[in-house]
Amino acid sequence: MTTIADQLSLAQEQIAQSAAVVGRNPSDITLLAVSKTKPAAMLRDAYQAGQRHFGENYLQEALEKQQELADLAITWHFIGPIQSNKTRPIAQHFQWVHSVDRLKVARRLSEQRPAELAPLNVCLQVNISDEASKSGASADEVKQLAREIDRLDNLRLRGLMAIPMATRDPGAQRAQFAKVKKLFNELKSEFSDIDTLSMGMSGDLDAAIAEQSTMVRLGTAIFGARK
Ligand SMILES: *Cc1c(COP(=O)(O)O)cnc(C)c1O
Repeated sequence: MTTIADQLSLAQEQIAQSAAVVGRNPSDITLLAVSKTKPAAMLRDAYQAGQRHFGENYLQEALEKQQELADLAITWHFIGPIQSNKTRPIAQHFQWVHSVDRLKVARRLSEQRPAELAPLNVCLQVNISDEASKSGASADEVKQLAREIDRLDNLRLRGLMAIPMATRDPGAQRAQFAKVKKLFNELKSEFSDIDTLSMGMSGDLDAAIAEQSTMVRLGTAIFGARK
């Protein structure tokens, strides 16, 4: 039987191999375990195997797991679409948000971030393929949004997140990630805190790492398929 610990070490090996191919240091790539729909017991197993960063998409589900796992020093990342009337619990209960794509949401997160907590780490979600169905700011909107978010007191702008159009063609995956990388490097030259490029999932990990990803978000590869 393969355990979560086995799957995690396989994932770490794959990250190390993908990094080696392009001459990168694997320690520059953080593994975010995406645990949506998976029970708290599986997250606990992953934690016991050394995993610290967990990503959740659905607020209510995430809050329930956080209560069950309150004894663990987990860093929680919110990576799902954000409804603007649900920002307060996100501002209160997460350390990172990857899916900020409009100023209204950013302002609310900043206003609602409790004063006793460190600023909320934020990645802007960019919609690189401009698919109408996907959330994310367009590449054109991202820089202006970054400038506005940079002024908000309780947010710390860390970088970009992207979910490219699904394709199995590695060349097409890289082409999309390359566009995000270009935007990332432009932002980096303008904002000193920018250090996070959140891209790469179970099906496009190699391409993302080849294009400078610093945080890969793996669900299926660690926890198995979702229903
Ligand atoms: C579900 C999800 C993932 C993980 O996807 P897998 O294909 O299971 O690795 C990563 N990022 C986001 C934003 C997700 O919603």
